[in-house]
Amino acid sequence: MSDSLLSPPPRRNLVGLGRAELAEEMAGFGAERFRARQLWHWIYHRGVTDFSLMTNLAKPFRERLCEQYELRRPAIATARTSIDGTRKWLLRFDDGQEVETVHIPESDRGTLCVSSQVGCTLTCTFCHTGTQRLVRNLTAAEIVAQVMVARDALGEWPSPPNGVGEDRMLTNIVLMGMGEPLYNYDNVAAALKIVMDPEGLAISRRKITLSTSGVVPVIARVGAELGVNLAVSLHAVTDELRNRLVPLNRKYPIAELLDACRSYPGSSNARRITFEYVMLKGVNDSPAEARELVRLLQGIPAKVNLIPFNPWPGAPYECPTDAAIAAFSEIVFNAGYSAPVRTPRGRDISAACGQLKSESVRARRGVAAQRPAPAPQPAV
Ligand code: SAH
Ligand code: SF4
Repeated sequence: MSDSLLSPPPRRNLVGLGRAELAEEMAGFGAERFRARQLWHWIYHRGVTDFSLMTNLAKPFRERLCEQYELRRPAIATARTSIDGTRKWLLRFDDGQEVETVHIPESDRGTLCVSSQVGCTLTCTFCHTGTQRLVRNLTAAEIVAQVMVARDALGEWPSPPNGVGEDRMLTNIVLMGMGEPLYNYDNVAAALKIVMDPEGLAISRRKITLSTSGVVPVIARVGAELGVNLAVSLHAVTDELRNRLVPLNRKYPIAELLDACRSYPGSSNARRITFEYVMLKGVNDSPAEARELVRLLQGIPAKVNLIPFNPWPGAPYECPTDAAIAAFSEIVFNAGYSAPVRTPRGRDISAACGQLKSESVRARRGVAAQRPAPAPQPAV
């Protein structure tokens, strides 16, 4: 007897479907239209993983759903909690690929750092993710699942009668995990629409920040179609240096990138674009570069985020001294821009972008991950 006769057909996972997809699936299943809306509420507002808990659906209907569908999360390959409260999950998807999701609690908010790709094709020379051999886009469902897993782990699904609490641990989302979100725009956009839906996960576009290394042609769409906050990984003030640090700069140089920022829909003094600047000792950390940064940003509603370089084994850079970073920050601050230095979080759990994933790969292969030849960049 063949396997297919022995094992039941695989059940379709409904977690990660958008509104239209869920409606279509339910129509094909023969359910009335309003059922899709009820399911949406259970899946994304209440976070249930068991159809039998959907008490406003008739029992025979729940049983039929259970025969054909599932509400499954990806497997958690590793979960760690730092002494500073930062939590990190390495998620493993059905094909065995893994990505990281990090939760950073702060006094006034809790931020989830979400990945958009397995690895990254853009070999920025200071970034560990760019050294990872395997690269694929995450599906919209895999991006949404990162938020669902965090809500599960933080115990934050609203349960009546309280509804949505005031003091939530997951209030903000940053697309600053593994991958370049604008090289996977369609899936990122579909996922964010699910995450922002007010009848579901309900995280407002104002609480979401998308970070890009500068995929200029897609930036305007982010503002027009999603309306989320924009962060741009600048890291250098001359094309010569940025070409070396962020190779994508050869395709979209600084002037073009800043023009796209100037016309970013929805930016204003109240909603500034964040310019990320990784501090690399002796490379981009001089006072002259701080002054040039201020000059470049003129006319853009901007704030600057200084990120001390987070070292990884074999990295060709070092982090500047605290004094050098403070001097840089002061120049930018005195020119009227907020210029906080991002405090390293979760160092004891390898919370640097890409590290936990690499540890896991090394443990399984017994070898150090190596920088691959630059992968071809998708045309956008
Ligand atoms: N691909 C996107 C988003 C993910 S990276 C981007 O590049 O913007 C998120 C941020 O972490 C980027 O600003 C990136 O430049 C920065 N980063 C990457 N590796 C780093 C490291 N080793 N130390 C400090 N910041 C790093
Ligand atoms: Fe990719 Fe961003 Fe890392 Fe560059 S910094 S390699 S774009 S993840």
